[in-house]
Amino acid sequence: MPAKVATIVRTLMHCIDGRFVPSSSGDSLEDVAPATGQVIARVPRGNAADVGLAVAAARSALSSGWGSASVAQRADLLEAVATRIEARLDELAALEALDTGKPVQLARKVDIPRAIANFRFFAGAVRHDETACHTMERALNYTLRRPLGVVGLITPWNLPLYLLTWKTAPALAMGNAVVAKPSELTPLTANALAEIFVEVGAPAGVFNLVHGLGAEAGDALVTHPDVAGISFTGGTRTGAHVATAAAPLFKKVSLELGGKNPTLVFDDCDFTAAVEGAVRAGFTNQGQVCLSGSRVLVQRGIHDRFVAAVVSRVQQMRIGDPMQPETELGALVSLAHRDKVEGYLRLASEEGGKVTGGARPQLAPPLDRGAFLAPAVITGLPHTSRSVQEEIFGPVVSIHAFEDENEAVSLANAVRYGLAASIWTRDLTRAHRVSARLDSGMVWVNTWMLRDLRVPFGGMKDSGVGREGGRWSLDFFSEVRNVCIQLEP
Ligand code: NAD
Repeated sequence: MPAKVATIVRTLMHCIDGRFVPSSSGDSLEDVAPATGQVIARVPRGNAADVGLAVAAARSALSSGWGSASVAQRADLLEAVATRIEARLDELAALEALDTGKPVQLARKVDIPRAIANFRFFAGAVRHDETACHTMERALNYTLRRPLGVVGLITPWNLPLYLLTWKTAPALAMGNAVVAKPSELTPLTANALAEIFVEVGAPAGVFNLVHGLGAEAGDALVTHPDVAGISFTGGTRTGAHVATAAAPLFKKVSLELGGKNPTLVFDDCDFTAAVEGAVRAGFTNQGQVCLSGSRVLVQRGIHDRFVAAVVSRVQQMRIGDPMQPETELGALVSLAHRDKVEGYLRLASEEGGKVTGGARPQLAPPLDRGAFLAPAVITGLPHTSRSVQEEIFGPVVSIHAFEDENEAVSLANAVRYGLAASIWTRDLTRAHRVSARLDSGMVWVNTWMLRDLRVPFGGMKDSGVGREGGRWSLDFFSEVRNVCIQLEP
């Protein structure tokens, strides 16, 4: 049975220098449970002064020991955090479901286990890390890595703990001190992570948490002169803003942004597996995953049968209380976000598409005030329409027919995004060929979102700059220096 979390109104605080403190302004924001509309927390509305205190605490942690901590000490800390998250798994899954509206089963199976894996993985990765040595005839080069210093981590609401830990673990593994700014919509598990750092006895100031709005606390973090690097995951427009603000300060910046990812289904695929895969890619987490396969491209010969199978499967999805273990689709993150998604469904109809599904389900109180939306499948839309080109980030897929491989590739690439793609075919040669031609940072063949934490994760075009994962994360969170020694004159 999933853990129950009390529906009290929590009062959150920032975590600065190992202590929980209120916002210096005294202002707060309300955190609302999207499934019920109930206020579940008051969250400090962080500002530049709070960010300044957090950055100062991080700097002081670096100079008072953390900056010279050994690899083993850093890896031990990560492992202690992982163990503590594991001990609190049920509670954290319930908090994540309460805060985001996602099914608690998804949080139990994916979000929280992945947070644990992030810490364990980077503990191992840094223990086994190697640096390069380039020998010359009479000289030797070797590279040293040192931390960037204070790094700012800015994360979105769709996978709150999963993504915050995906950045925190490698940042600390490489010896940086962190100031994290989670999404104002989903602060609960970030708060729990700060508690965990205190519980495991992390040195004060190594992990600091400042809550608040992007334009206030987020912007203050990006523009703080003592923050050497910003790792940002969020929307493309915000990413552009972050890049613009950070550029004149010459900060290292990593941008993981939006997607409008194609699922390419060829007529030689395993039909049942492809339908299941397309539905999973389209609707997991109510379609609020950057990797969501929101454009389904299907070869003409199986198109109509595929559409019918997807619609039938989608209509059977159990939508409702995120806290019930059998729920497949929970609430969207907010009523405002549901309005945005519904706006795209109206637009799709105006653009000539046929929308199947996408109504507000009738649910009993208190879920009747939640941001629920039935999954929607759109057909008959020109690929150039806005609802096909723009990221909707909801339980919506559009399905389009293609004739042959060339048309499949050109449709797949005909958007501004380039994050992920999945290809469904039994022809391995074709899988290789098409994978090589896609404008996409990641390609899955006959699967979706199968993750090995060593592999590069990230996008091209409007989906971002840089890669995370394994070596790439360790590289981002460190400064490399070459030392060249002449051995003989
Ligand atoms: P968002 O861009 O609105 O917010 C992301 C974070 O940025 C939040 O913490 C927000 O407070 C902060 N922020 C907002 N304005 C800021 C500013 N001016 N300066 C600094 N920080 C600012 O995104 P969202 O709505 O929370 O998340 C959804 C988006 O995230 C989608 O586009 C999705 O595709 C993307 N996403 C990408 C990935 C990836 O790995 N590529 C993963 C998850 C989500």
